[in-house]
Amino acid sequence: MPDGKTHEMINMAVLIVAVSGLLYLATLKEALLIAGYLNTYTIMTFAVAYLFATFFLSPDLDIESSSYKRWGIFRILWWPYKVIFKHRGFSHNLILGPLSIVMNLALIAIPVLLLAGVQPQSLPPDFIIAAVAGMVLSMEVHIISDNFISGIKGAF
Ligand SMILES: [Zn+2]
Repeated sequence: MPDGKTHEMINMAVLIVAVSGLLYLATLKEALLIAGYLNTYTIMTFAVAYLFATFFLSPDLDIESSSYKRWGIFRILWWPYKVIFKHRGFSHNLILGPLSIVMNLALIAIPVLLLAGVQPQSLPPDFIIAAVAGMVLSMEVHIISDNFISGIKGAF
């Protein structure tokens, strides 16, 4: 499987393509239903969430990865995740991986928001959809890269 640096480079390349595609779709306002939802705000939210996930929410949180270490002392919040999910098990499943990571993040983020006096349900739906989409795409790119590279290696 690709190492952390390779994953980050692949993820960056995909982000550039994805944001370019979204910006292009946003210009086709009449043509597509999704275009009405795309604006600078949602695309920026998508891109920032994608970057955050690339560096902090990689499916390799199931091992002592760079994503895991970047949490610093807060890595304790991902310790149960690391212990529960065997490497490249659930965390590298196309559906269960992103779902379990986003749910673990929600378990961390909701108390933080409440402590900061923000009601999670008061967050705009556009923001949440764009953020989750960005994070999920980043994880999917990671999982697909892992499978793809393993497939190539397996062929030789
Ligand atoms: Zn991986």
